[in-house]
Amino acid sequence: MLAILHPNTPLDSDAYRETLHFLENLPGVSLRVHEVQGATQKLTEIYLLGETKSLDRDEIAALPAVERVIRISDDYRILGRHKDSLRQNGFSYNGVTFNQENLNIFAGLCAVDIPEHVEAMMSALQQHGEVCTRMGAYKPRTNPYSFQGHGKGCLPWVFETAGKYGIKVVAMEITHESHIEEIDECLEKLGRPTGVMLQVGTRNTQNFELLKAIGRQRTYPVLLKRGFGITLNESLNAAEYLASEGNANVIFCLRGMKTEAGQPHRNMVDFAHVPTVKRLTRMPVCVDPSHSVGSRDRAPDGILDVMHATAQGVIAGANMVLVDFHPKPEKALVDGPQALHMDELPAYLADIQLCHETWKKRQAIYKDLRGKTAT
Ligand code: PEP
Ligand code: MN
Repeated sequence: MLAILHPNTPLDSDAYRETLHFLENLPGVSLRVHEVQGATQKLTEIYLLGETKSLDRDEIAALPAVERVIRISDDYRILGRHKDSLRQNGFSYNGVTFNQENLNIFAGLCAVDIPEHVEAMMSALQQHGEVCTRMGAYKPRTNPYSFQGHGKGCLPWVFETAGKYGIKVVAMEITHESHIEEIDECLEKLGRPTGVMLQVGTRNTQNFELLKAIGRQRTYPVLLKRGFGITLNESLNAAEYLASEGNANVIFCLRGMKTEAGQPHRNMVDFAHVPTVKRLTRMPVCVDPSHSVGSRDRAPDGILDVMHATAQGVIAGANMVLVDFHPKPEKALVDGPQALHMDELPAYLADIQLCHETWKKRQAIYKDLRGKTAT
């Protein structure tokens, strides 16, 4: 069971003390207090765990600090939606808002290589008003002899360049918990010119110790990739690991499933699950069309498969796009063949905007039917 307190309830108020006193004395029930910082208000949620079946919901709802009470199921306790459409979703980080209604684009390099390419990418993003990017410093590679990423060494100049071009959030995969400290130390030393969203790659979706370590820190939000060979439920539970350790600022990323059936694409595009994840959880949903499609193949209509896949995700309500670009894809050290070219950026951004607006219009045409039809 979950008791949601009135927004901005002070923790030193009588209402809070009285409410907590009552809840703490319920037999067989333990409490977990969770604070959610939204763009405009702070919400305190109290999870009641244990013997909650016999609790009187109305009695708890009547406590002075409680706004409403929700019965939650065991699945995705914190991140789940639990059929309550009023529950706040999303979060703000370093001036950028992430939720289930808006859209942020993270175009950038799959792997950081040389300063000129990083600078060209960020400068192009700034010209188009974008404030987020992707930049891989720690690369999980299939082959141990392949380029593993520049690691810690490139962080200072990547972050400084990001600051120079007004980039507020850099999505960066980490493969070991020590990378959190490396990133944090570097940002701190530089005076935090930019922010970082820690990315958990598909190969690490069920690396529970890594998830717990990332979940224990609350400085950086997390982009969790869906595991490429596990069920959606298993991947959503992986996200819940982060929240259960304390960090609920999580974005869930669809990136295609590994199966021969997806060929000739690198993975089977799974963007029909965008609305499904939004229905089951309160996480903003990201799509990664680059790692799903994995090539620059083009349809007879002149549009790349990567762009078509992006459109499918965004028109279904995706809230973030993570996509590989490169100023010189033939020179890229990782995933060059799937990277979009810099001169494709304006058209691609326009296409995404069109699809996002269309998603809003799609909601409007179904609005009148809401509530009229059964489930
Ligand atoms: C990536 O985004 O660079 C990446 C390695 O993706 P994934 O974990 O989805 O393969
Ligand atoms: Mn890649």
